[in-house]
Amino acid sequence: MGADGGSIATRQDILSNHTTKSQHNVPQGEDKEENLIKTCHFSTLPLYGNDPIVGDCRGKLYIKEYILKYILGTKKDKANVRAEFSHIALLKDISPVHVFWTVVDKVPFIECPVTKEVERGFSYLRTCGCLVSSKALREFKHEGKCPNCNLSFEDYDVVVLDPLNKKENVALNDKNMEVLQGKGLSHSKLPLKKAKKKTLDSSTDEFVRKRKPQEDAPTTKRPKSS
Ligand SMILES: [Zn+2]
Repeated sequence: MGADGGSIATRQDILSNHTTKSQHNVPQGEDKEENLIKTCHFSTLPLYGNDPIVGDCRGKLYIKEYILKYILGTKKDKANVRAEFSHIALLKDISPVHVFWTVVDKVPFIECPVTKEVERGFSYLRTCGCLVSSKALREFKHEGKCPNCNLSFEDYDVVVLDPLNKKENVALNDKNMEVLQGKGLSHSKLPLKKAKKKTLDSSTDEFVRKRKPQEDAPTTKRPKSS
């Protein structure tokens, strides 16, 4: 069964499609980033209307359905591992992200739920999943609480959206992930090592078992990508 990705259009196909469609509405020049943050980094389909959405530790967003299929595919056969996504080997390498939208002239834009503005820089919090503008995080964070939902978070829970792998974002996201790993936690803040039998009440692991009845290989090692 190697046909998992067969029906998915290539990244390039959809990117060109997407760009053409929104060229009338989005200013030129910086629009690449604007388009990419609204696009599933794996399937390249628009995130808008395709909930649930999840994020990884590198600040990439995904339509959950597609990245789940990828994870399951890599569990079936390591040959399906793609270097670009090799940091996503388990469900605990992704976490839910709540994206807030505003639609202008039929074009959806990500909107900060705090400032109600369409901003350039966005970050999401591993704890609550709120996607807020970096500006709101700086200006409206009170005592380490999410400016949108008021749930507490630590500085290392911040993931900067980074569709273009910008140096400063990569450095920050990597640094935060190192802190988490130092605490023995995954991106989604679940223990890196599996507990003896069933882990806590990890609903995400349950989900995998339902979708894929055969036993999970108990490996936490990342497959080598070559
Ligand atoms: Zn929140």
